[in-house]
Amino acid sequence: MTKSIAVVGSGPTGTAAAQTLLNRGYSVTLFDVGLTKSNANDFGTKTSLPKTLMPKKKLFNSTFMYQRADGINIAVDNKVSFDTSHAKGGLSTIWGATVGAIYPQDILNWPISYNEISENLNLSFNLTGIMGAMDQIDELYPINLKVNNFDFEVDQTIFLLNRAKKHKIYLNKNNIYVGKSKLAVQANPAAVNVCVKCGKCMEGCQYDSIFSAANILEDLLSDPKFTYQPLALVESVFESGDSVSLTFKNLARDGEINTKIFSSAVLAAGCLDTLRIIDNSTEKKPDHYIIKDSQKFYFPVFVWGGRQRQSSKSISLAHLYIQSFDSNLNLIQTQLYPGMQFLNLMLIEKLGPLFGSIFGKILNPVLSRTYIGMTYMHSNISGTMTVKFNQESINVSGKPNEKSTVEFRSLLARLFKIGHKTGFYVFPRLYLKAKIGHSQHFGGAIEMMEVSLPGGADTLGRPFGFDRTYVVDATVLPTIPATPTTTIALSNAIRIAIKIMF
Ligand SMILES: Cc1cc2nc3c(=O)[nH]c(=O)nc-3n(C[C@H](O)[C@H](O)[C@H](O)COP(=O)(O)OP(=O)(O)OC[C@H]3O[C@@H](n4cnc5c(N)ncnc54)[C@H](O)[C@@H]3O)c2cc1C
Repeated sequence: MTKSIAVVGSGPTGTAAAQTLLNRGYSVTLFDVGLTKSNANDFGTKTSLPKTLMPKKKLFNSTFMYQRADGINIAVDNKVSFDTSHAKGGLSTIWGATVGAIYPQDILNWPISYNEISENLNLSFNLTGIMGAMDQIDELYPINLKVNNFDFEVDQTIFLLNRAKKHKIYLNKNNIYVGKSKLAVQANPAAVNVCVKCGKCMEGCQYDSIFSAANILEDLLSDPKFTYQPLALVESVFESGDSVSLTFKNLARDGEINTKIFSSAVLAAGCLDTLRIIDNSTEKKPDHYIIKDSQKFYFPVFVWGGRQRQSSKSISLAHLYIQSFDSNLNLIQTQLYPGMQFLNLMLIEKLGPLFGSIFGKILNPVLSRTYIGMTYMHSNISGTMTVKFNQESINVSGKPNEKSTVEFRSLLARLFKIGHKTGFYVFPRLYLKAKIGHSQHFGGAIEMMEVSLPGGADTLGRPFGFDRTYVVDATVLPTIPATPTTTIALSNAIRIAIKIMF
């Protein structure tokens, strides 16, 4: 029997699983649609990106990572908005790189122990290291991420961190924990790709300092046990005896249908695409699937104190984390982005480069005192998306959950009350509730269970009825905590890849 394993998808979870399997001595073939900036026009279906309030993040002015190569129309109702990726590196080519530890209460009902899921946390980003600091937020977690200290703060952020330290007891008593953000960005001064604080994170990192699975893939290519099969759109898996055959459209050959046989298959195509592969591979298909979301909110934050300066020699990713607990004692995750860089980009997107930058300069005194807050809620109090697969389309409808709004307003009220201590101010009714899926932190459609039942998966991510097919992306997470999803999905992908046996 061949000991070769197929991995589908080159995003963070696929590359992490591939790397773990290679380290264990297995041969790995990674199947990937794998669009890049240079081939997306040839193979990607042209998609006109829907207008959203916040500008869509671009990579060096390109949006190839949002293009799909299967020609399938994703029809969403007006409550839903999300992206999928057929890119080499998946959505990590464009992500915000926020990472974080896992909070025990958030995964209390999981069929996996806290230690089992958390012990791989530090393996997840061992190539990049994590930029951040140990502070009051870390005191909440039994297992912490290993971080490299890196001074990226602007004066305003330093001012707020000092306030948080000084008033820690008062803040914590009011169910608020403030600390420096943790980012999957290279902070080791000896590394060639160490962050140079150019402030252009939102436009694309030309120094490769921000973790991208596309870079991990480049490293895997030097392993003789690794084969990369790009332009391969996997359609289905079929298990027979001690092998799995994988059927894919070879886009390099006009979509020719090819089949290859492996001992096991690992699916990491992102929640929607993994679901589609499982649906195509299942005889008794369910009528629909339910995806759990982590509800996102936006709100402005104003700082009156400090030195009123946000230097451009910094980063434009999240600067601060604010954590709090909802009434179920699940964590609420908030990230503060420096307003100057973020809002300037938004102005340029809305008004064009000339007027946008002129307007940005005029507004500078205000923007430099502003942060954009982004809050995420646990899936227990967030909305869901119902997905139905048809031959030519995927229909997605949303079901909001008002509990998230109640909890978010309560958070804003708490922050408002203690503004004189935190040094930043919010307005209780000034916020935007994002559409379902917009957080990009979603999954849980085939959740892992102690004993797998129809519609679920076992603790190794094998959907009911499958023996040799392991799902390692967010599709199998039983819930979606508010803390950054990719860290949790990565940790779980490594856990499963360590345990795959045949
Ligand atoms: C703007 C933005 C910012 C974000 N910021 C953060 C953040 O700060 N922190 C965080 O935790 N998360 C963030 N996310 C979410 C994060 O990017 C995703 O959680 C993460 O990329 C998911 O990884 P994945 O490996 O499961 O799948 P993906 O990254 O979606 O990768 C899927 C891979 O599968 C391949 N593929 C898909 N279908 C097929 C098929 N049929 N056959 C073969 N290959 C296929 C694709 O080519 C791709 O390589 C952000 C997302 C966006 C869009």
